Amino acid sequence: MANQAPPPLKPLPEDWSTAVAIVAHPDDLEFGAAAAVARWTGQGKNVVYVMVTSGEAGIDGLSPDECRTLREREQVESARIVGVSEVEFLGFPDGILEYGLPLRAAIAEVVRRHRPEIVITGNFRDTWGGSSLNQADHIAVGRSVLDGVRDAGNRWVFPEQLTGGLEKWGDVRAVWAASSPESRHGVDTSQTFDAGVASLKAHRAYIDGLGWEHFDEQEFLEGFSRPAGSRMGVAFAAPFEVYSMTWGGGDEDD
Ligand SMILES: [Zn+2]
Repeated sequence: MANQAPPPLKPLPEDWSTAVAIVAHPDDLEFGAAAAVARWTGQGKNVVYVMVTSGEAGIDGLSPDECRTLREREQVESARIVGVSEVEFLGFPDGILEYGLPLRAAIAEVVRRHRPEIVITGNFRDTWGGSSLNQADHIAVGRSVLDGVRDAGNRWVFPEQLTGGLEKWGDVRAVWAASSPESRHGVDTSQTFDAGVASLKAHRAYIDGLGWEHFDEQEFLEGFSRPAGSRMGVAFAAPFEVYSMTWGGGDEDD
């Protein structure tokens, strides 16, 4: 049988106003979702970034203490470029994240504090599609995000957090995982593609530290944004997998 074209991507809903993006490392959002974030902030939506680690184990030639400062600074700048003014670093150890209660609790606390309608994370499936393996931290964070979002809505889970005015929050509509190979939804990023490129370029020291001498941010982002765009009938798009968090999975987000 001949290769079939990938299925079309349905546009993600845009009738929301607050989102929190929770990912493992500085740069995770810039390698896929940043142009979509730029579109949303351009619509007046509020998006907060939460980095589970500071990516401090990411540069072979730089000690974690030096690296942490550098990467946090680059992340704050790349967020600013796409209209995000609030970036939190949770301080978990880069490279050795584990799925488990400490991570779920930290994510539940973030969700209870920010009270978002939408939570964004990165692809946490085993691969990026084909045989290209995903990374352990990404998988641990994505699974913890799904569970931490549900934990946030249950007052009897991590009840020690519910002091000083912090309350449970059970109104997250969906978790959206950027760049999942199982994506069935997308965001038209044709108008904000350049902002996405600029936000990835803000990770210059990191990319140089990887030794990717000839890495071209624009070329890299075009490489997946064009095929995703063609699945929506636009020039560029960012693909997302949707996990509905409403009981039974509401039609609006499926
Ligand atoms: Zn990462």
